[in-house]
Amino acid sequence: MSRTCGAGRVRALSLAVVCAVALSGLPSAATVALDTTTGAPGIGDPYWPLDGNGGIDVRHYDVAVDYDFATGELSGTTTLTMAARTDLATFHLDLLLPVTAVSVEGVPAAFAKPVEHELRVTPATVVARDDVVEVEVTYAGRPGSIVYADELNWLASDRELLAANEPHMAPWWYPANDHPSDKATFDIAVTGPATHQAVSNGLLVNRRVDGARATTQWRVLRPMTTYNALLALGRYDVEQTTRGGLPSYVAVSRDLPAFERSAALRQLRRSDEITAWLARRLGPYPFESTGGLVTGLPAGFALENQTRPTYPGAPDTELLVHELGHQWFGNSVSVRRWRDIWLNEGFAQFLQHYWLETHRGQPAQQWLRKTHRAFAATRGFWRLDIADPGAARVFDNAVYVRGAMAVQALRHRIGDRTFWRLLRAWTDRRRHGTGGIGDFRTLAERVARQPLDGFFRAWLSAPRAPAVTRRNGLR
Ligand SMILES: [Zn+2]
Repeated sequence: MSRTCGAGRVRALSLAVVCAVALSGLPSAATVALDTTTGAPGIGDPYWPLDGNGGIDVRHYDVAVDYDFATGELSGTTTLTMAARTDLATFHLDLLLPVTAVSVEGVPAAFAKPVEHELRVTPATVVARDDVVEVEVTYAGRPGSIVYADELNWLASDRELLAANEPHMAPWWYPANDHPSDKATFDIAVTGPATHQAVSNGLLVNRRVDGARATTQWRVLRPMTTYNALLALGRYDVEQTTRGGLPSYVAVSRDLPAFERSAALRQLRRSDEITAWLARRLGPYPFESTGGLVTGLPAGFALENQTRPTYPGAPDTELLVHELGHQWFGNSVSVRRWRDIWLNEGFAQFLQHYWLETHRGQPAQQWLRKTHRAFAATRGFWRLDIADPGAARVFDNAVYVRGAMAVQALRHRIGDRTFWRLLRAWTDRRRHGTGGIGDFRTLAERVARQPLDGFFRAWLSAPRAPAVTRRNGLR
């Protein structure tokens, strides 16, 4: 993610709604534990205790939604293919919309919504540990009226819709095990006006027009985190190409002024070239397609949606590098817990500086030294532990800027060749998986053949500017 403006926009919304969820009597993080017959309402991430669900492992989502611009209503049927990690008499999913029916293996199941964010399902018979079952959920509601975790993530006008956000987006439009540690493949079908295009992740499979309505099907072949799933519906200029065997799909909103549309299209066309540049440094591109989408809605941030990042207006080249860099750092290798966010944002931000260095711009080490000098006396800048920034500051500026400084300092400390060998080892060994900061440090020490705990402490967690030493990568 990269904020371009209006970072506080959704944070100011109705606290009353958020408190109603928080006070509703569900367990806190400390008590979200798995017992043998009940899947827990949360996966155990202290940042957002109700996110994800204990006891289930979703393998595939088959999402079918229909959106009505006139009423703002979304109706959907999603089938989840999921494995039980323990015997389950009941289990939870995350969904903010009202539910009308649930079935498990085709048999109607009892369900309840103890709070708006949680759907509790009680199948007719216990799902045995390691069984893989299909769970179908039918639902409808107005996502634009719903706030969760202080976020109102649904962005829609009477002509265009964009569901793209982080850390939460899925529960506004499909039931999910909404945590990056449970990734799955997806089929996504979107029905809307035949005058509009529906854009999502992966490969465009089919578009079928039925009178005034059209249904577009997308397929995601590699595991994806739930927040990365994209739903965009609007009138777009679309271009589809294939370069080096990799399909690219780019879309630009026709609601943008003509000059911005052509600038956006010109920049989005560079996505496959930048993807190829990144692949030469980070290893083979992990996914089945690339591209991007520029919305006409006031999103205020860009997001790295898997295979198809979204941008608020024509992106500059560094922003393209940032969001496409996330395809390796964040999308292929995803955070295990939200506190590991440095592994996403520090590396995507560093890649922007590395792009500049290799394209007649400032060397990244010079940027590091200058930034370190400029902020040396700014105590607030160093106070945040960016290895555990807390839910409220997970996208704090320090996570990005100090995060990128730490990556460049590591590069300088262990040497360029060892550094790129480390990054390739990380993206290769954990491809389509997850990782934490501790895992990265362990791998870095192994590849660089030296202890680095003092280095990581100085750059990520110590509440002061790292000393100008060779050990800190500043000499
Ligand atoms: Zn980012």
